Amino acid sequence: MRLEGKVALISGGARGQGAAEARLFTQEGAAVVIGDILDDDGMKLEAEIRELGGQCTFVHLDVTDADQWETAVSEAVNRYGKLDILVNNAGIGSTNAGGVDAPRIHEAPVEVWDQIMDINGKGVFLGTRAAIGAMREAGGGSIINISSIAGLVGLSPGSGAGAAYASSKGAVRLLTKATAVQYASEGIRCNSVHPGYIDTAMTERMMSMPGMREMRVGSTPLGRIGTVDDIANGVLFLASDEASFMTGSELVIDGGYTAQ
Ligand code: NAP
Repeated sequence: MRLEGKVALISGGARGQGAAEARLFTQEGAAVVIGDILDDDGMKLEAEIRELGGQCTFVHLDVTDADQWETAVSEAVNRYGKLDILVNNAGIGSTNAGGVDAPRIHEAPVEVWDQIMDINGKGVFLGTRAAIGAMREAGGGSIINISSIAGLVGLSPGSGAGAAYASSKGAVRLLTKATAVQYASEGIRCNSVHPGYIDTAMTERMMSMPGMREMRVGSTPLGRIGTVDDIANGVLFLASDEASFMTGSELVIDGGYTAQ
């Protein structure tokens, strides 16, 4: 029960890594509000977790909309009494489902840049902005921002990560440090998580392209693709009081990819 008595809000929590975190957090005693644009998946996950005895509520949340963030934070406070943990997890890899349009800069449409920056970058800013007030009232909190290995190193064109994605994840890395420094004196911690190649819906189409899975496994020293639970375990640690002396740090969970 590492999160006993805590209340968490997870953006993009209807599926993928966010859903794994919602399941794990509730097993560890937290009440969880899942925010996502995928209403059906979100409501199914809410029902699944409640059936197992967990406390969980789904709210519709488009992370690019400041008003919807206010509503999601209010839902956590009104229903469960406070907000202790925010996981800024929602993100897109590209503008088409499954993530295969990762053009190089000279070929990239401006709209692709805008959309990716809006969701992956501005979405984290808006979530943090909305959560600070409630965390102050709770006497502190933990914000975990999901960046990527693409926010640490440049990935080659063949890897499937475009410049907009990398730039958005780099912005998340530094927004994390700005948040950490600005709110440390109020007991609000903020850390970034940097997943390597993980099997989720986001990467499904990319992974099924000829040779892509083999290339990704081959470039990962531990020799496998990561799972959503690999990431959820790290996020759980940062959310819990076990990480009470950690803020502004980068937790890299990539099978050794960026160690090379
Ligand atoms: P996922 O399964 O696609 O989950 C992301 C969730 O965010 C989806 O439910 C997605 O809905 C939702 N979302 C998209 N736009 C949104 C918006 N405007 N408002 C609210 N929710 C929105 O992908 P994942 O792999 O779990 O990704 C989670 C995070 O990890 C992302 O930030 C991603 O960039 C990061 N990451 C992933 C990998 C990887 O290899 N999978 C590696 C490094 C970092 P839709 O399906 O409708 O888009």
